[in-house]
Amino acid sequence: MKCVVGTALAVAIGWSVTNATAQSKNPVDAYLEAAKAAAGFDFTGTLVRVCVAPQTAPGADVAPGPAPDRATWATDPAKVFDNLYFVGTKIHSAWALTTSEGIILIDTLYEYASDDAIVGGLRKLGLDPGTVKYVIVSHAHGDHVGGAKLMQDRFGARLIMGGPDWDMIDKSVNQYPNGKPKRDIVATDGQKVTLGDTTVTIILTPGHTPGTLSLIFDVKDNGKPLTVAYSGGTAFNFPNDVPHFDTYIESQRKMAAAAAGANATALMSNHSEFDNAVTKIKTLAARKPGEPHPFDIGRDAVARYFKVTETCAQLARFKLQAPKG
Ligand SMILES: [Zn+2]
Repeated sequence: MKCVVGTALAVAIGWSVTNATAQSKNPVDAYLEAAKAAAGFDFTGTLVRVCVAPQTAPGADVAPGPAPDRATWATDPAKVFDNLYFVGTKIHSAWALTTSEGIILIDTLYEYASDDAIVGGLRKLGLDPGTVKYVIVSHAHGDHVGGAKLMQDRFGARLIMGGPDWDMIDKSVNQYPNGKPKRDIVATDGQKVTLGDTTVTIILTPGHTPGTLSLIFDVKDNGKPLTVAYSGGTAFNFPNDVPHFDTYIESQRKMAAAAAGANATALMSNHSEFDNAVTKIKTLAARKPGEPHPFDIGRDAVARYFKVTETCAQLARFKLQAPKG
């Protein structure tokens, strides 16, 4: 019932934004209200990041700073679904999807955390990091690509990344003082990465970076199958101009359609601030029999996530074009 109400609300909000944008003198408020309504209680972190305090410039090509104290980022690894394990930090997520033929690792954290949280985390969970066959890197920012070289060099894992993000790595002068991952598999739109009994579908969602990858894959919750929509890039730290926002907006719509088409009922991300991963994992530990899985939020809530990112991008794009003063 809750989901039905959510859908009706989302439709109503969509209608009111369209009208407010056309008729009201204050479309900024209309966009913001629509984004807030879409976020609900599920995506407040995403809302704050992209609607309230958007980051507005790409990071410079500089060497990573010193590693922060371990206590600021370390958290326990966890089994989240029958075949999906969290091996991330308090801030960034990395996910191990187990298959009949080994592991597909999704994202690799900052370099300073990767050995400890991913390699150590897998071992703590009774998984062998040597069985990681594929590493899908959602995009080539330091907080997700940091452990890619380690997985490639130490375990011979194949790396999959968007072509423009492989190019970003090639062009970088300063960001990889300990060496770059070697260019490997270039992701294509709709590509199926199959390992044993499991397939991950890649959706190219340029915007956050030119080669950002989002994913669709299935997991099992005590044997019950469900589908995950994995959003690979969220914040607006790209050149803030209309063409870049248009690209980002188109990708949010594309991924929303892919998630709906796959009947995805879980939304996952690579930052805990966007999908509340660390909090949900704590909730999961206290889950009682018969209670819903905290990540299984329903297809309408998944749709609302992409409505938040799209609407906030529309707002930022509108502000670029609005007359100043
Ligand atoms: Zn990023």
